[in-house]
Amino acid sequence: MHTLKTNRRNWLKTSALTAGGILAAPYLGFSKNPSLPLTLDSEGNAIYSPFFKEFLPEDLREFPVYSAKLNANENPYGASPMAIEALKVSATGSNRYAWKELYQLVDKIAAFEGVAPSNVMMGPGSSDLLEKTAMVLFMNGGNVVSADPAYMSLIRVAEAAGGTWKPVPLGKDWSHDLEAMEKAIDSETKLVYICNPNNPTGTITDSEALLDFCSRVSEKVPVFIDEAYLWFLEDGAKQSMVSLVKEGKNVIVARTFSKIHGMAGLRVGYAIAREDTLNKLQKITRAGMGITHPSVFAAMAAMDDTEFVEKSRTLNTAARDYTFNSLQELGFNPVPSHTSFMIFPIDMEGREFLNKMTQQKVGVRAFEFLDQKWCRVSIGTMEEMHLFIDAINKVLV
Ligand code: PLP
Repeated sequence: MHTLKTNRRNWLKTSALTAGGILAAPYLGFSKNPSLPLTLDSEGNAIYSPFFKEFLPEDLREFPVYSAKLNANENPYGASPMAIEALKVSATGSNRYAWKELYQLVDKIAAFEGVAPSNVMMGPGSSDLLEKTAMVLFMNGGNVVSADPAYMSLIRVAEAAGGTWKPVPLGKDWSHDLEAMEKAIDSETKLVYICNPNNPTGTITDSEALLDFCSRVSEKVPVFIDEAYLWFLEDGAKQSMVSLVKEGKNVIVARTFSKIHGMAGLRVGYAIAREDTLNKLQKITRAGMGITHPSVFAAMAAMDDTEFVEKSRTLNTAARDYTFNSLQELGFNPVPSHTSFMIFPIDMEGREFLNKMTQQKVGVRAFEFLDQKWCRVSIGTMEEMHLFIDAINKVLV
């Protein structure tokens, strides 16, 4: 479907630009945008690798008011009504730490996943667990092998902690090139990171092949599987790698309540892994200490509200199909998505595109990889996707 044009001249150009013009990013804790990337080029765009860049709006501190906010893969249908009710009721307990209740949530998750409670570690969002894993594993150097492009949170922290990234281009069918990834592992490799389904591409890797890969490779080096978007698949449970943890493999699976459960603002995520692996992470994090009392109750209620999860998946699929077909009708070539977002190539400089979309009150993301500029759009409600298609019609057609 696509070929990776390794354009050396562009690589050199970008590297020179990066080396010569790194801007100081605002300190994360004071930034209005906690997902700010760490390395910016002289134009203020994020450089992830010589081949992978994200365009950022000019003024990072200005948050425009969008009619359709389609830039963070949030659930447009809110959180489950049962979770919101649980939040309200539990708010009165906000003066207490949620230690006891956290055990209840861990037990519930363990039962749901079919693992022991000692295989579950909670975090305020899965970002926290991705980043803590990176800190623990890379504080003494080493490299992380992952796809390029990939979700950058773990990789960025690995680099900041002292590690290096060994990017392996996705295969022609947009799945992880597992053979090339295995070959990329060397004596310095501390972790393989696989996001399945992958962000920012929205594509999947065959679960049988992935099971086989993880099973073999985890004998040499731990494998981190980020399953943030798993539940957007019809057969999510079947495609999960959790069964490998049950087999005693050194695989870490990360999940979040931010996506299909619609709780991005409540910050609850978890990791499933072997006890000895979690003990290592535990050294620098007190697991659920970052999770609020009401969030614990909301997460438990969200797990019970299977109807909301089902509704979110069904509505997402319908709005995604509409978006895919509409983009094709307009002459674009969207990549078939298995998630709550979608990418398609665009023929406009990334920042100019973002600015023009913002003028239309539509928020999206813009990347450059495979020598091509891309728009990544989150799948919102049908109404929001109509606004998005109208905006694309005005900006790009
Ligand atoms: N992993 C992937 C692939 C994501 O896309 C995201 C968020 O967009 C996360 C992890 C982190 O989500 P959270 O920290 O909200 O759990």
